[in-house]
Amino acid sequence: MSILEVVGVSKLFGALRAVDDVSFTVEAGEIFGIAGPNGSGKSTLFNTISGIPFGPDEGRVVFQGQDLSRLKGHVIARMGLARTFQRETAFDTLSVFENALMGASYGRAARGAGAAEVTEALQFVGFDKAMFRRPAAELSVYDRKCLMLATALAMSPRILLLDEPASGLTKPEIEDSITLIRRIAGRGITILLIEHVLTMLLTLSQRLMVLNQGRMLILGEPEEVVRNPEVIRAYLGD
Ligand code: ADP
Ligand code: MG
Repeated sequence: MSILEVVGVSKLFGALRAVDDVSFTVEAGEIFGIAGPNGSGKSTLFNTISGIPFGPDEGRVVFQGQDLSRLKGHVIARMGLARTFQRETAFDTLSVFENALMGASYGRAARGAGAAEVTEALQFVGFDKAMFRRPAAELSVYDRKCLMLATALAMSPRILLLDEPASGLTKPEIEDSITLIRRIAGRGITILLIEHVLTMLLTLSQRLMVLNQGRMLILGEPEEVVRNPEVIRAYLGD
Protein backbone atom coordinates (compact mmCIF):
# COMPACT_ATOMS: atom_id res chain seq x y z
CA MET A 1 0.00 0.00 0.00
CA SER A 2 1.41 3.41 -0.90
CA ILE A 3 1.66 5.80 2.04
CA LEU A 4 2.77 8.81 -0.01
CA GLU A 5 1.87 9.91 -3.52
CA VAL A 6 3.65 12.82 -5.14
CA VAL A 7 1.73 13.81 -8.26
CA GLY A 8 3.14 16.29 -10.79
CA VAL A 9 4.71 18.46 -8.11
CA SER A 10 6.52 21.67 -9.10
CA LYS A 11 8.06 24.51 -7.12
CA LEU A 12 9.04 27.74 -8.86
CA PHE A 13 11.43 30.47 -7.78
CA GLY A 14 10.78 33.18 -10.36
CA ALA A 15 11.68 31.62 -13.69
CA LEU A 16 13.51 28.69 -12.07
CA ARG A 17 11.58 25.43 -11.83
CA ALA A 18 13.52 24.12 -8.81
CA VAL A 19 11.22 21.06 -8.75
CA ASP A 20 9.66 20.36 -12.11
CA ASP A 21 6.70 18.01 -12.53
CA VAL A 22 7.96 15.26 -10.23
CA SER A 23 5.75 12.19 -9.61
CA PHE A 24 6.41 9.05 -7.56
CA THR A 25 4.80 6.92 -4.88
CA VAL A 26 6.34 5.53 -1.71
CA GLU A 27 5.20 2.24 -0.20
CA ALA A 28 4.55 1.91 3.53
CA GLY A 29 7.65 0.60 5.32
CA GLU A 30 9.97 1.40 2.44
CA ILE A 31 13.28 3.28 2.52
CA PHE A 32 13.12 5.43 -0.60
CA GLY A 33 16.43 7.00 -1.64
CA ILE A 34 16.79 10.32 -3.44
CA ALA A 35 20.03 11.44 -5.09
CA GLY A 36 21.06 14.13 -7.54
CA PRO A 37 23.72 16.78 -8.08
CA ASN A 38 23.80 19.93 -5.94
CA GLY A 39 20.95 22.24 -6.85
CA SER A 40 18.87 19.49 -8.48
CA GLY A 41 15.89 20.22 -6.22
CA LYS A 42 16.17 17.52 -3.55
CA SER A 43 15.75 19.77 -0.50
CA THR A 44 13.10 21.81 -2.28
CA LEU A 45 11.17 18.59 -2.92
CA PHE A 46 11.26 17.83 0.84
CA ASN A 47 10.03 21.37 1.51
CA THR A 48 7.05 20.91 -0.81
CA ILE A 49 6.14 17.56 0.78
CA SER A 50 6.49 18.70 4.39
CA GLY A 51 5.03 22.18 3.86
CA ILE A 52 8.09 23.60 5.63
CA PRO A 53 8.40 26.38 4.73
CA PHE A 54 6.16 26.00 1.67
CA GLY A 55 4.01 23.51 -0.24
CA PRO A 56 4.06 22.90 -4.01
CA ASP A 57 3.07 25.52 -6.59
CA GLU A 58 1.72 22.81 -8.86
CA GLY A 59 0.61 19.24 -8.35
CA ARG A 60 -0.30 17.53 -5.13
CA VAL A 61 1.08 15.46 -2.30
CA VAL A 62 -1.18 12.76 -0.88
CA PHE A 63 -0.28 11.23 2.48
CA GLN A 64 -2.34 8.27 3.71
CA GLY A 65 -5.06 9.26 1.29
CA GLN A 66 -5.17 12.91 2.38
CA ASP A 67 -4.12 15.83 0.18
CA LEU A 68 -1.39 17.82 1.95
CA SER A 69 -0.64 20.34 -0.74
CA ARG A 70 -2.53 23.24 0.80
CA LEU A 71 -1.90 22.42 4.47
CA LYS A 72 0.49 24.20 6.82
CA GLY A 73 3.71 22.53 7.97
CA HIS A 74 2.63 22.05 11.59
CA VAL A 75 -0.63 20.42 10.50
CA ILE A 76 1.29 18.05 8.24
CA ALA A 77 3.70 17.26 11.09
CA ARG A 78 0.77 16.40 13.35
CA MET A 79 -0.59 14.05 10.75
CA GLY A 80 2.61 12.02 11.13
CA LEU A 81 5.07 13.38 8.58
CA ALA A 82 8.35 14.54 10.14
CA ARG A 83 11.59 15.75 8.59
CA THR A 84 15.15 16.72 9.32
CA PHE A 85 17.06 19.52 7.64
CA GLN A 86 20.23 19.53 5.58
CA ARG A 87 21.88 21.91 8.04
CA GLU A 88 21.96 20.96 11.69
CA THR A 89 19.84 23.58 13.38
CA ALA A 90 19.57 23.88 17.15
CA PHE A 91 19.19 26.57 19.77
CA ASP A 92 22.73 26.69 21.07
CA THR A 93 21.96 28.06 24.51
CA LEU A 94 19.25 25.50 25.22
CA SER A 95 19.98 22.00 26.45
CA VAL A 96 19.64 18.93 24.27
CA PHE A 97 16.41 18.02 26.07
CA GLU A 98 14.92 21.51 25.76
CA ASN A 99 15.78 21.59 22.07
CA ALA A 100 14.06 18.28 21.40
CA LEU A 101 11.02 19.18 23.50
CA MET A 102 10.59 22.51 21.75
CA GLY A 103 11.15 21.07 18.30
CA ALA A 104 8.82 18.15 18.84
CA SER A 105 6.03 20.37 20.15
CA TYR A 106 5.74 21.62 16.56
CA GLY A 107 4.33 18.28 15.65
CA ARG A 108 2.78 17.23 18.90
CA ALA A 109 1.18 20.35 20.38
CA ALA A 110 -2.33 19.23 19.45
CA ARG A 111 -1.86 15.91 21.21
CA GLY A 112 0.24 17.39 24.04
CA ALA A 113 4.00 17.55 23.57
CA GLY A 114 5.35 14.80 25.75
CA ALA A 115 8.50 14.74 27.85
CA ALA A 116 8.14 10.95 27.77
CA GLU A 117 8.32 10.76 23.96
CA VAL A 118 11.26 13.16 23.92
CA THR A 119 13.14 11.14 26.55
CA GLU A 120 12.50 7.92 24.67
CA ALA A 121 13.60 9.43 21.34
CA LEU A 122 16.79 10.91 22.78
CA GLN A 123 17.66 7.56 24.35
CA PHE A 124 16.88 5.82 21.08
CA VAL A 125 19.58 7.84 19.28
CA GLY A 126 22.05 6.94 22.02
CA PHE A 127 22.01 9.94 24.36
CA ASP A 128 22.36 9.35 28.11
CA LYS A 129 20.88 11.59 30.82
CA ALA A 130 24.12 13.61 31.16
CA MET A 131 23.84 14.36 27.45
CA PHE A 132 20.24 15.58 27.93
CA ARG A 133 21.51 18.51 30.01
CA ARG A 134 24.34 19.66 27.76
CA PRO A 135 23.88 22.90 25.83
CA ALA A 136 23.44 22.21 22.10
CA ALA A 137 26.41 24.51 21.41
CA GLU A 138 28.73 21.81 22.77
CA LEU A 139 27.56 19.09 20.42
CA SER A 140 29.57 17.57 17.58
CA VAL A 141 28.12 17.50 14.06
CA TYR A 142 27.12 13.86 14.57
CA ASP A 143 25.38 14.59 17.86
CA ARG A 144 23.59 17.57 16.33
CA LYS A 145 22.30 15.26 13.61
CA CYS A 146 21.19 12.78 16.28
CA LEU A 147 19.40 15.58 18.12
CA MET A 148 17.58 16.61 14.95
CA LEU A 149 16.65 12.98 14.33
CA ALA A 150 15.43 12.48 17.92
CA THR A 151 13.33 15.64 17.66
CA ALA A 152 11.64 14.27 14.55
CA LEU A 153 11.15 10.85 16.16
CA ALA A 154 9.59 12.36 19.27
CA MET A 155 6.72 13.47 17.03
CA SER A 156 5.89 9.77 16.50
CA PRO A 157 5.91 10.03 12.70
CA ARG A 158 4.57 7.47 10.26
CA ILE A 159 6.98 8.80 7.66
CA LEU A 160 10.34 10.49 8.11
CA LEU A 161 12.17 12.67 5.56
CA LEU A 162 15.95 12.73 6.08
CA ASP A 163 17.93 15.40 4.23
CA GLU A 164 21.59 14.34 3.93
CA PRO A 165 21.96 12.65 7.33
CA ALA A 166 25.52 11.55 6.47
CA SER A 167 26.95 14.84 5.23
CA GLY A 168 29.95 16.00 7.23
CA LEU A 169 30.28 12.69 9.09
CA THR A 170 33.32 10.44 9.41
CA LYS A 171 33.22 6.88 8.04
CA PRO A 172 32.52 5.28 11.46
CA GLU A 173 29.83 7.89 12.13
CA ILE A 174 28.23 7.09 8.76
CA GLU A 175 28.17 3.41 9.80
CA ASP A 176 26.50 4.40 13.07
CA SER A 177 23.89 6.47 11.30
CA ILE A 178 23.18 3.64 8.84
CA THR A 179 22.49 1.40 11.85
CA LEU A 180 20.29 4.07 13.40
CA ILE A 181 18.24 4.56 10.23
CA ARG A 182 17.80 0.77 9.96
CA ARG A 183 16.48 0.68 13.51
CA ILE A 184 14.05 3.50 12.71
CA ALA A 185 12.82 1.58 9.66
CA GLY A 186 12.55 -1.47 11.92
CA ARG A 187 9.92 0.40 13.90
CA GLY A 188 7.76 0.48 10.80
CA ILE A 189 8.49 4.11 9.97
CA THR A 190 8.64 4.82 6.23
CA ILE A 191 11.75 6.77 5.24
CA LEU A 192 12.62 9.15 2.42
CA LEU A 193 16.39 9.53 2.34
CA ILE A 194 18.28 12.27 0.48
CA GLU A 195 21.99 11.44 0.34
CA HIS A 196 25.21 11.90 -1.60
CA VAL A 197 26.98 9.13 0.31
CA LEU A 198 26.51 6.18 -2.02
CA THR A 199 27.29 3.49 0.56
CA MET A 200 24.38 4.74 2.63
CA LEU A 201 21.98 4.88 -0.33
CA LEU A 202 23.00 1.47 -1.61
CA THR A 203 22.90 -0.13 1.82
CA LEU A 204 19.57 1.28 2.89
CA SER A 205 17.27 2.14 0.03
CA GLN A 206 14.93 -0.30 -1.67
CA ARG A 207 14.46 2.09 -4.57
CA LEU A 208 16.45 5.10 -5.67
CA MET A 209 15.27 8.20 -7.53
CA VAL A 210 17.74 10.61 -9.13
CA LEU A 211 16.78 14.23 -9.72
CA ASN A 212 18.51 16.47 -12.24
CA GLN A 213 17.63 20.13 -12.75
CA GLY A 214 14.38 19.66 -10.86
CA ARG A 215 13.20 16.69 -12.90
CA MET A 216 13.18 12.99 -12.21
CA LEU A 217 15.99 11.45 -14.25
CA ILE A 218 15.45 7.86 -13.22
CA LEU A 219 13.77 5.72 -10.55
CA GLY A 220 14.64 2.12 -9.96
CA GLU A 221 16.75 -0.50 -8.28
CA PRO A 222 19.67 1.35 -6.57
CA GLU A 223 22.56 -0.75 -7.94
CA GLU A 224 21.25 -0.27 -11.49
CA VAL A 225 20.47 3.41 -11.04
CA VAL A 226 24.00 4.35 -9.93
CA ARG A 227 25.47 2.55 -12.94
CA ASN A 228 23.17 4.29 -15.41
CA PRO A 229 25.20 6.38 -17.91
CA GLU A 230 22.73 9.29 -17.79
CA VAL A 231 23.09 9.44 -14.02
CA ILE A 232 26.89 9.43 -14.26
CA ARG A 233 26.71 12.20 -16.87
CA ALA A 234 24.43 14.31 -14.65
CA TYR A 235 26.92 14.06 -11.79
CA LEU A 236 29.90 14.89 -13.97
CA GLY A 237 28.05 17.94 -15.23
CA ASP A 238 28.46 16.90 -18.84
P1 ADP B 1 19.52 20.32 -3.68
O1 ADP B 1 18.95 20.09 -2.33
O2 ADP B 1 19.27 19.21 -4.64
O3 ADP B 1 20.98 20.67 -3.62
P2 ADP B 1 17.83 22.66 -3.66
O4 ADP B 1 16.48 22.08 -3.57
O5 ADP B 1 18.42 23.22 -2.43
O6 ADP B 1 18.80 21.59 -4.33
O7 ADP B 1 17.83 23.81 -4.75
C1 ADP B 1 17.28 23.64 -6.05
C2 ADP B 1 17.37 24.94 -6.82
O8 ADP B 1 16.48 25.89 -6.25
C3 ADP B 1 18.75 25.58 -6.75
O9 ADP B 1 19.00 26.20 -8.00
C4 ADP B 1 18.61 26.60 -5.65
O10 ADP B 1 19.51 27.68 -5.84
C5 ADP B 1 17.16 27.06 -5.81
N1 ADP B 1 16.55 27.47 -4.55
C6 ADP B 1 16.37 26.71 -3.46
N2 ADP B 1 15.73 27.38 -2.49
C7 ADP B 1 15.49 28.62 -3.01
C8 ADP B 1 14.84 29.80 -2.49
N3 ADP B 1 14.30 29.82 -1.27
N4 ADP B 1 14.78 30.88 -3.30
C9 ADP B 1 15.30 30.85 -4.55
N5 ADP B 1 15.92 29.79 -5.09
C10 ADP B 1 16.01 28.68 -4.33
MG1 MG C 1 19.82 19.97 -0.49
